[in-house]
Amino acid sequence: MPRRRLIWQIFTTNLVVLLAALAAVALYATGSLRTFYLDHVTTELEARARLLESGVNALLNNSNNTEALDRFCKDMGRDSATRVTVVNTAGQVLGDSDEDPAHMENHAGRQEIVEALASGRGASSRHSPTLGKDMVYVALRLETRGETQGVLRVSVPLTSVNEALAVIYLHIAAGGIVVIVLAAGMSWWMSRRLSSPLEEMKDCAVHIAAGELDYRCAVPDSEEIGGLAEAMNRMAAQLHDRLTVEVKHRNEMEAVLSSMTEGVLAVDSDEKIINVNLAATRFFGLEPHAVLGRTIQEAVRIADLQQFIQRTLARGVPMESEIFVPHGDGERHIQAHGNVLRDAKGKAIGALVVLNDVTHLTRLEAVRRDFVANVSHELKTPITSVKGFVETLQAGAIKDPQEAERFLAIIARQADRLNAIIEDLLTLAKIEQGEQKGDIVLEKCGLEEVLRAAVQVCEVKAAEKGVRIDTQCEPGLRAEINAPLLEQALVNLIDNAIKYSDAGSRVEALASRNGGEVVLRVRDYGSGIEKEHLDRIFERFYRVDKARSRKQGGTGLGLAIVKHIAQAHGGRVSVESAPAKGSTFSIFLMAPASVLQARVG
Ligand code: ADP
Repeated sequence: MPRRRLIWQIFTTNLVVLLAALAAVALYATGSLRTFYLDHVTTELEARARLLESGVNALLNNSNNTEALDRFCKDMGRDSATRVTVVNTAGQVLGDSDEDPAHMENHAGRQEIVEALASGRGASSRHSPTLGKDMVYVALRLETRGETQGVLRVSVPLTSVNEALAVIYLHIAAGGIVVIVLAAGMSWWMSRRLSSPLEEMKDCAVHIAAGELDYRCAVPDSEEIGGLAEAMNRMAAQLHDRLTVEVKHRNEMEAVLSSMTEGVLAVDSDEKIINVNLAATRFFGLEPHAVLGRTIQEAVRIADLQQFIQRTLARGVPMESEIFVPHGDGERHIQAHGNVLRDAKGKAIGALVVLNDVTHLTRLEAVRRDFVANVSHELKTPITSVKGFVETLQAGAIKDPQEAERFLAIIARQADRLNAIIEDLLTLAKIEQGEQKGDIVLEKCGLEEVLRAAVQVCEVKAAEKGVRIDTQCEPGLRAEINAPLLEQALVNLIDNAIKYSDAGSRVEALASRNGGEVVLRVRDYGSGIEKEHLDRIFERFYRVDKARSRKQGGTGLGLAIVKHIAQAHGGRVSVESAPAKGSTFSIFLMAPASVLQARVG
């Protein structure tokens, strides 16, 4: 049903009531007026009739003189502007002011005449068949000495009554119109006065409902509507306060959830996602806002997780599981802890899953296992060799001085190798410890000296192999370094470069500034490294060609040491290499200005 404005409802109701009242009053007033006026005319006619009564009686007694009677009627009628009629008891018209009695019909049946003959006086207002118009009649019974002689009737046309009444009606109508206009105006004004504060209330409510909780309603002076406005203002203020607290709580909760490294995923009992934090969306590659409200089956196509959530919802107890999520070329290893979500009354309303990315830990564990296996393996080879040659010597070879010397030389070489491995392992352990404790002291030093010192260490070996070392350093280049450690890293790199270069080749040791970093590069033009090994080359004991490395006296730990030294400086390492073309190993350190900025920042 269409809704109408209140102002129109009040106004139209008022107007209808007003018009009805006015119409009722007008009807009653005009009716009463007409009756009053007719009574007045009747009384007047009766008075006239009484005046004529004696004259007519005199003429009537002289029964032969009907002509004189008729003339009397005509004279009187003309003078008094009244129709005068005299009839005998039989209803025959003896005289009439307006018509010829001879042509008039018998009047015995006329209402006023019947009444007058019966009671002495009669009156009526009706249509006159003689004159053809509406008339008001008054009739008096004429008596002489107690004997009825006839009836005297006087009348005036009703039109004159109607005309007089019409003038009065016109005045009443004019007055009524004025009253209607005035009352309609008053009614409109009152309707507005009643409805406009309500309309303001409505506007105010619309603003508040639209979320403008700072909006306040104007308080009108009416008791009821003023009270309503105040109540609405109080309600808006309370809503505002509650919402502010809610938003604050929500923001705090979102901040906590989004800064967590653990993934958090909450679903309702229909498995629809009701909350998911940033970490969880990252684990599963989801769009945070696109998944809210969707079922876990639609949003995350990982069967392990879907089943885990179903199990948690079904069993209603804390659950734990491992989930493997495809990630890049490999997979992420995620540890999931699930529990049932309960509302304030303890009713189960869904499930909450906390996800921990343990890929790194798993990898570390694998590295540790590999490391132990590698160390054992690396140590076992020289020990087996030493043991073998000692047993051979014991078995009699010691008696052959030449053989004995050869075997002892091999045993000495293997001991050196064991020593080299253990020294490298100790160095690595020391650097790692220093890194963890943060007690590797960095000082601002010139890099040229460090570079030259490293080259100097390797010069004998280079000369033996016929390899030339070119050094180039940007003048005055300085960085915050631990000089002995950095020198060792450079020695490892230059030593490798010489090892894997052919005789007569060239090795370059370079130091330069690159943006906010200082780069130390060792380039060779030797054997180079196949692409598939480049990612793993810095791992402990990783060697491209084990036999060649061993023959060269390598331990497989040199590059691991370089990587840890770079990390202990807050830097990093990289390698570019192509088989048969050579390799470039780089150590990136922060330039002093950047170090300063980083510390200030
Ligand atoms: P190693 O003691 O065996 O040299 P490193 O950790 O120093 O151990 O190096 C690991 C492996 O990387 C080496 O076995 C070798 O295969 C490869 N490698 C290192 N430096 C170079 C280089 N400059 N050219 C070619 N291969 C290299």
